[in-house]
Amino acid sequence: MKITVLSGGVGGARFTRGLLALLRDRLPDGAGGTSAQVTVVANTGDDMWLHGVRVCPDLDTLLYTLGGGVHEQQGWGRREESRRVSDDLAAYDLGWEWFTLGDLDLATHLARTELLRRGLPLTQVVQHLAERWQPGARLLPMSDQPVETHVELEDGRLIHFEEWWVRHRAALPARRFVQVGLEDATAAPGVLDALTGADVVVLPPSNPVVSVGTILAVPGVRDALRSTRAPVVGVSPVVGGAPVRGMADACLAAIGVATSAQAVARHYGLRSAGGVLDAWLVDTADQDAVPALTADGWRTAAVPTLMTDVPTTARIAADALALVDRVP
Ligand code: GDP
Ligand code: CA
Repeated sequence: MKITVLSGGVGGARFTRGLLALLRDRLPDGAGGTSAQVTVVANTGDDMWLHGVRVCPDLDTLLYTLGGGVHEQQGWGRREESRRVSDDLAAYDLGWEWFTLGDLDLATHLARTELLRRGLPLTQVVQHLAERWQPGARLLPMSDQPVETHVELEDGRLIHFEEWWVRHRAALPARRFVQVGLEDATAAPGVLDALTGADVVVLPPSNPVVSVGTILAVPGVRDALRSTRAPVVGVSPVVGGAPVRGMADACLAAIGVATSAQAVARHYGLRSAGGVLDAWLVDTADQDAVPALTADGWRTAAVPTLMTDVPTTARIAADALALVDRVP
Protein backbone atom coordinates (compact mmCIF):
# COMPACT_ATOMS: atom_id res chain seq x y z
CA MET A 1 0.00 0.00 0.00
CA LYS A 2 1.36 3.40 -1.00
CA ILE A 3 0.30 6.26 1.24
CA THR A 4 1.17 9.89 0.62
CA VAL A 5 0.82 12.51 3.35
CA LEU A 6 0.96 16.31 2.84
CA SER A 7 2.45 17.60 6.06
CA GLY A 8 3.33 20.70 8.02
CA GLY A 9 5.32 20.39 11.25
CA VAL A 10 3.95 19.22 14.57
CA GLY A 11 0.42 18.11 13.56
CA GLY A 12 1.59 16.33 10.42
CA ALA A 13 4.61 14.72 12.07
CA ARG A 14 2.64 13.37 15.01
CA PHE A 15 -0.03 11.99 12.71
CA THR A 16 2.57 10.32 10.47
CA ARG A 17 4.25 8.75 13.49
CA GLY A 18 0.91 7.18 14.44
CA LEU A 19 0.27 6.09 10.86
CA LEU A 20 3.66 4.35 10.72
CA ALA A 21 2.96 2.61 14.05
CA LEU A 22 -0.35 1.35 12.63
CA LEU A 23 1.33 0.07 9.47
CA ARG A 24 4.15 -1.64 11.40
CA ASP A 25 1.47 -3.38 13.39
CA ARG A 26 -0.76 -4.38 10.45
CA LEU A 27 1.75 -4.69 7.60
CA PRO A 28 5.04 -5.66 9.27
CA ASP A 29 8.07 -6.26 7.05
CA GLY A 30 9.72 -8.59 9.56
CA ALA A 31 12.53 -6.15 10.30
CA GLY A 32 10.63 -3.82 12.60
CA GLY A 33 9.37 -1.66 9.75
CA THR A 34 6.41 -1.89 7.42
CA SER A 35 5.98 -3.18 3.89
CA ALA A 36 3.70 -0.22 3.17
CA GLN A 37 5.35 2.79 1.52
CA VAL A 38 4.70 6.12 3.12
CA THR A 39 5.78 9.32 1.38
CA VAL A 40 5.57 12.58 3.27
CA VAL A 41 5.52 15.78 1.23
CA ALA A 42 6.59 18.53 3.60
CA ASN A 43 5.79 22.21 3.60
CA THR A 44 8.91 24.32 3.10
CA GLY A 45 7.12 27.68 3.18
CA ASP A 46 8.38 28.27 6.73
CA ASP A 47 12.02 27.90 5.69
CA MET A 48 14.34 30.83 6.14
CA TRP A 49 17.92 32.01 6.32
CA LEU A 50 18.82 32.96 9.86
CA HIS A 51 22.29 34.28 10.60
CA GLY A 52 23.83 32.38 7.74
CA VAL A 53 22.13 29.02 8.18
CA ARG A 54 19.15 27.54 6.36
CA VAL A 55 16.36 26.59 8.75
CA CYS A 56 13.57 24.22 7.62
CA PRO A 57 11.20 24.01 10.61
CA ASP A 58 8.65 21.54 9.26
CA LEU A 59 11.15 19.15 7.68
CA ASP A 60 13.14 19.10 10.92
CA THR A 61 10.05 18.47 13.04
CA LEU A 62 9.30 15.50 10.78
CA LEU A 63 12.87 14.16 11.00
CA TYR A 64 13.04 14.52 14.77
CA THR A 65 9.53 13.19 15.44
CA LEU A 66 9.76 10.18 13.12
CA GLY A 67 13.41 9.57 14.05
CA GLY A 68 12.81 9.50 17.81
CA GLY A 69 14.70 12.69 18.65
CA VAL A 70 11.94 15.22 19.17
CA HIS A 71 11.33 17.23 22.32
CA GLU A 72 8.04 15.52 23.09
CA GLN A 73 6.27 18.17 25.21
CA GLN A 74 7.32 21.02 22.96
CA GLY A 75 6.43 19.10 19.80
CA TRP A 76 9.41 20.48 17.84
CA GLY A 77 13.16 20.75 18.33
CA ARG A 78 15.52 18.22 19.90
CA ARG A 79 15.09 16.62 23.26
CA GLU A 80 17.84 17.20 25.81
CA GLU A 81 18.61 20.41 23.97
CA SER A 82 20.87 23.16 25.29
CA ARG A 83 21.44 26.75 24.30
CA ARG A 84 25.11 27.38 24.91
CA VAL A 85 25.79 28.72 21.42
CA SER A 86 22.90 31.17 21.40
CA ASP A 87 23.77 32.33 24.93
CA ASP A 88 27.37 32.89 23.92
CA LEU A 89 26.36 34.77 20.79
CA ALA A 90 24.36 37.10 23.00
CA ALA A 91 27.62 37.97 24.79
CA TYR A 92 28.78 39.50 21.49
CA ASP A 93 25.55 41.42 21.28
CA LEU A 94 24.72 39.36 18.21
CA GLY A 95 22.08 37.18 19.78
CA TRP A 96 19.05 36.03 17.89
CA GLU A 97 16.28 38.36 18.85
CA TRP A 98 13.29 36.10 18.56
CA PHE A 99 14.25 32.73 17.17
CA THR A 100 16.44 30.61 19.38
CA LEU A 101 18.39 27.78 17.82
CA GLY A 102 19.38 25.05 20.23
CA ASP A 103 22.87 23.59 20.01
CA LEU A 104 21.82 20.20 18.65
CA ASP A 105 19.32 21.77 16.28
CA LEU A 106 22.06 24.07 15.06
CA ALA A 107 24.07 21.02 13.97
CA THR A 108 21.20 20.07 11.64
CA HIS A 109 21.13 23.57 10.16
CA LEU A 110 24.90 23.65 9.70
CA ALA A 111 24.85 20.24 8.03
CA ARG A 112 22.02 21.28 5.72
CA THR A 113 23.65 24.60 4.89
CA GLU A 114 26.94 22.89 4.06
CA LEU A 115 25.21 20.41 1.73
CA LEU A 116 23.25 23.22 0.04
CA ARG A 117 26.48 25.16 -0.42
CA ARG A 118 27.98 22.11 -2.11
CA GLY A 119 25.19 22.46 -4.65
CA LEU A 120 22.87 19.65 -3.62
CA PRO A 121 19.15 20.27 -4.16
CA LEU A 122 17.06 20.27 -0.99
CA THR A 123 15.56 16.87 -1.91
CA GLN A 124 19.02 15.28 -1.70
CA VAL A 125 19.92 17.23 1.40
CA VAL A 126 16.83 15.85 3.13
CA GLN A 127 17.76 12.36 1.98
CA HIS A 128 21.19 12.77 3.55
CA LEU A 129 19.76 14.00 6.86
CA ALA A 130 17.23 11.16 6.78
CA GLU A 131 20.01 8.57 6.59
CA ARG A 132 20.84 9.54 10.12
CA TRP A 133 17.29 9.84 11.43
CA GLN A 134 15.77 6.84 9.64
CA PRO A 135 12.24 8.30 9.71
CA GLY A 136 10.65 5.13 8.27
CA ALA A 137 8.98 7.12 5.51
CA ARG A 138 10.23 8.79 2.35
CA LEU A 139 10.51 12.47 3.12
CA LEU A 140 10.21 14.97 0.26
CA PRO A 141 10.27 18.75 0.40
CA MET A 142 7.37 20.19 -1.60
CA SER A 143 9.86 21.99 -3.85
CA ASP A 144 13.61 22.27 -4.33
CA GLN A 145 13.22 25.99 -4.97
CA PRO A 146 12.82 28.33 -2.02
CA VAL A 147 9.20 29.34 -1.48
CA GLU A 148 8.81 31.50 1.62
CA THR A 149 5.50 32.38 3.19
CA HIS A 150 5.33 36.06 4.07
CA VAL A 151 2.53 37.80 5.92
CA GLU A 152 1.09 41.07 4.70
CA LEU A 153 0.19 43.16 7.74
CA GLU A 154 -2.58 45.74 7.83
CA ASP A 155 -0.08 48.57 7.27
CA GLY A 156 1.09 46.83 4.08
CA ARG A 157 4.36 45.59 5.58
CA LEU A 158 5.49 42.09 4.60
CA ILE A 159 7.24 39.97 7.22
CA HIS A 160 8.39 36.36 7.13
CA PHE A 161 5.78 33.93 8.40
CA GLU A 162 8.05 32.68 11.20
CA GLU A 163 8.57 36.22 12.47
CA TRP A 164 4.80 36.75 12.54
CA TRP A 165 4.21 33.36 14.19
CA VAL A 166 7.07 33.13 16.67
CA ARG A 167 7.91 36.74 17.44
CA HIS A 168 4.39 38.20 17.33
CA ARG A 169 2.48 35.01 18.24
CA ALA A 170 0.22 35.69 15.21
CA ALA A 171 -1.29 38.61 17.16
CA LEU A 172 -0.76 41.21 14.41
CA PRO A 173 -3.80 41.10 12.14
CA ALA A 174 -2.81 39.64 8.77
CA ARG A 175 -4.28 40.82 5.49
CA ARG A 176 -3.03 37.88 3.47
CA PHE A 177 -0.25 35.36 3.00
CA VAL A 178 2.13 35.65 0.09
CA GLN A 179 4.29 32.78 -1.12
CA VAL A 180 7.46 34.48 -2.28
CA GLY A 181 9.13 32.48 -5.05
CA LEU A 182 6.08 30.44 -5.96
CA GLU A 183 6.01 31.58 -9.61
CA ASP A 184 9.44 30.10 -10.23
CA ALA A 185 8.89 26.96 -8.17
CA THR A 186 8.14 23.47 -9.38
CA ALA A 187 7.18 20.46 -7.31
CA ALA A 188 10.26 18.57 -6.13
CA PRO A 189 11.18 15.36 -7.97
CA GLY A 190 8.85 12.58 -6.88
CA VAL A 191 6.13 14.78 -5.42
CA LEU A 192 3.58 14.64 -8.24
CA ASP A 193 4.23 10.93 -8.84
CA ALA A 194 3.70 10.29 -5.13
CA LEU A 195 0.23 11.81 -5.49
CA THR A 196 -0.83 10.29 -8.79
CA GLY A 197 0.64 6.87 -7.95
CA ALA A 198 -0.67 6.57 -4.39
CA ASP A 199 -3.27 4.15 -3.10
CA VAL A 200 -4.47 6.77 -0.65
CA VAL A 201 -3.56 10.39 0.05
CA VAL A 202 -3.93 11.81 3.54
CA LEU A 203 -4.13 15.42 4.67
CA PRO A 204 -3.15 15.09 8.33
CA PRO A 205 -4.32 17.63 10.94
CA SER A 206 -1.86 20.26 9.70
CA ASN A 207 -2.49 23.97 9.38
CA PRO A 208 -4.85 24.25 6.37
CA VAL A 209 -3.54 27.68 5.39
CA VAL A 210 0.21 27.89 5.90
CA SER A 211 1.12 24.19 5.88
CA VAL A 212 -1.20 22.24 3.56
CA GLY A 213 -2.36 25.42 1.76
CA THR A 214 1.23 26.24 0.83
CA ILE A 215 1.90 22.73 -0.51
CA LEU A 216 -1.33 22.90 -2.54
CA ALA A 217 -0.16 26.18 -4.07
CA VAL A 218 2.95 24.59 -5.60
CA PRO A 219 2.30 24.34 -9.35
CA GLY A 220 0.88 20.94 -10.26
CA VAL A 221 0.08 19.72 -6.76
CA ARG A 222 -3.59 20.67 -6.67
CA ASP A 223 -4.14 19.19 -10.14
CA ALA A 224 -2.38 15.97 -9.13
CA LEU A 225 -4.67 15.70 -6.11
CA ARG A 226 -7.73 16.32 -8.23
CA SER A 227 -6.79 13.77 -10.83
CA THR A 228 -5.28 10.97 -8.75
CA ARG A 229 -7.19 7.71 -8.65
CA ALA A 230 -6.38 7.45 -4.95
CA PRO A 231 -9.01 8.61 -2.49
CA VAL A 232 -8.02 11.70 -0.52
CA VAL A 233 -8.92 11.87 3.16
CA GLY A 234 -8.30 14.68 5.63
CA VAL A 235 -8.26 14.90 9.43
CA SER A 236 -9.51 18.15 10.94
CA PRO A 237 -6.92 20.25 12.80
CA VAL A 238 -9.81 22.22 14.29
CA VAL A 239 -11.46 20.63 17.31
CA GLY A 240 -14.49 22.20 18.98
CA GLY A 241 -14.05 25.47 17.12
CA ALA A 242 -10.37 25.99 17.99
CA PRO A 243 -6.99 24.76 16.86
CA VAL A 244 -5.59 22.11 19.19
CA ARG A 245 -2.29 23.93 19.47
CA GLY A 246 -0.88 26.98 17.77
CA MET A 247 -2.74 29.87 16.23
CA ALA A 248 -4.26 28.38 13.09
CA ASP A 249 -7.41 30.41 13.79
CA ALA A 250 -5.46 33.60 13.00
CA CYS A 251 -4.43 32.08 9.66
CA LEU A 252 -7.98 30.99 8.84
CA ALA A 253 -9.33 34.44 9.77
CA ALA A 254 -6.88 36.06 7.36
CA ILE A 255 -8.29 34.07 4.44
CA GLY A 256 -11.91 34.49 5.57
CA VAL A 257 -12.55 30.92 6.72
CA ALA A 258 -14.30 30.27 10.03
CA THR A 259 -12.43 28.21 12.63
CA SER A 260 -14.70 25.18 12.52
CA ALA A 261 -14.19 21.64 11.31
CA GLN A 262 -16.98 22.07 8.79
CA ALA A 263 -15.68 25.38 7.40
CA VAL A 264 -12.21 23.91 6.91
CA ALA A 265 -13.71 20.94 5.05
CA ARG A 266 -15.64 23.28 2.76
CA HIS A 267 -12.51 25.37 2.25
CA TYR A 268 -10.66 22.30 0.96
CA GLY A 269 -13.75 21.27 -1.00
CA LEU A 270 -15.01 17.96 -2.31
CA ARG A 271 -13.11 16.56 -5.29
CA SER A 272 -16.40 15.92 -7.09
CA ALA A 273 -17.00 19.68 -6.87
CA GLY A 274 -13.52 20.90 -7.83
CA GLY A 275 -11.92 20.57 -4.39
CA VAL A 276 -9.21 18.25 -3.11
CA LEU A 277 -10.90 15.88 -0.63
CA ASP A 278 -13.23 12.89 -0.67
CA ALA A 279 -13.48 12.37 3.06
CA TRP A 280 -13.05 14.35 6.27
CA LEU A 281 -12.54 12.98 9.76
CA VAL A 282 -13.72 15.31 12.53
CA ASP A 283 -13.49 15.14 16.29
CA THR A 284 -16.39 13.89 18.41
CA ALA A 285 -16.63 17.48 19.66
CA ASP A 286 -17.69 18.40 16.12
CA GLN A 287 -20.16 15.61 15.41
CA ASP A 288 -22.77 18.25 14.54
CA ALA A 289 -20.85 18.73 11.28
CA VAL A 290 -21.38 15.12 10.20
CA PRO A 291 -25.03 15.23 9.00
CA ALA A 292 -24.54 18.41 6.95
CA LEU A 293 -21.33 17.17 5.30
CA THR A 294 -22.83 13.72 4.65
CA ALA A 295 -25.86 15.32 2.99
CA ASP A 296 -23.47 17.14 0.65
CA GLY A 297 -21.69 13.94 -0.40
CA TRP A 298 -18.79 13.84 2.03
CA ARG A 299 -17.61 10.62 3.59
CA THR A 300 -17.24 11.69 7.17
CA ALA A 301 -17.22 10.46 10.75
CA ALA A 302 -16.62 11.88 14.22
CA VAL A 303 -14.02 10.17 16.43
CA PRO A 304 -11.64 11.33 19.16
CA THR A 305 -8.79 13.04 17.26
CA LEU A 306 -6.50 14.26 20.03
CA MET A 307 -3.08 12.76 19.30
CA THR A 308 -2.23 12.22 22.96
CA ASP A 309 0.16 9.30 22.38
CA VAL A 310 1.31 7.03 19.58
CA PRO A 311 -1.27 4.21 20.00
CA THR A 312 -4.10 6.77 20.13
CA THR A 313 -2.74 8.45 17.02
CA ALA A 314 -2.45 5.08 15.26
CA ARG A 315 -6.16 4.61 15.91
CA ILE A 316 -6.92 8.03 14.41
CA ALA A 317 -4.91 7.05 11.33
CA ALA A 318 -6.89 3.79 11.09
CA ASP A 319 -10.15 5.73 11.36
CA ALA A 320 -9.04 8.07 8.56
CA LEU A 321 -8.09 5.17 6.27
CA ALA A 322 -11.34 3.38 7.09
CA LEU A 323 -13.31 6.38 5.82
CA VAL A 324 -11.99 5.67 2.34
CA ASP A 325 -11.94 1.85 2.67
CA ARG A 326 -8.17 1.60 2.89
CA VAL A 327 -7.73 -0.13 6.24
CA PRO A 328 -4.43 -2.01 6.09
P1 GDP B 1 3.22 23.28 12.44
O1 GDP B 1 3.84 23.45 11.09
O2 GDP B 1 4.20 22.89 13.50
O3 GDP B 1 2.34 24.42 12.82
O4 GDP B 1 2.31 21.98 12.33
P2 GDP B 1 1.15 21.52 11.35
O5 GDP B 1 0.78 22.55 10.36
O6 GDP B 1 1.50 20.17 10.84
O7 GDP B 1 -0.02 21.29 12.38
C1 GDP B 1 -0.59 22.34 13.10
C2 GDP B 1 -2.04 21.99 13.35
O8 GDP B 1 -2.13 20.74 14.03
C3 GDP B 1 -2.73 23.00 14.23
O9 GDP B 1 -3.72 23.65 13.48
C4 GDP B 1 -3.37 22.14 15.34
O10 GDP B 1 -4.70 22.49 15.57
C5 GDP B 1 -3.28 20.74 14.80
N1 GDP B 1 -3.11 19.77 15.84
C6 GDP B 1 -2.09 19.68 16.72
N2 GDP B 1 -2.26 18.66 17.58
C7 GDP B 1 -3.44 18.08 17.23
C8 GDP B 1 -4.20 16.96 17.73
O11 GDP B 1 -3.80 16.30 18.70
N3 GDP B 1 -5.38 16.66 17.10
C9 GDP B 1 -5.84 17.37 16.04
N4 GDP B 1 -7.00 17.03 15.47
N5 GDP B 1 -5.16 18.42 15.55
C10 GDP B 1 -3.98 18.77 16.12
CA1 CA C 1 5.17 24.96 10.09
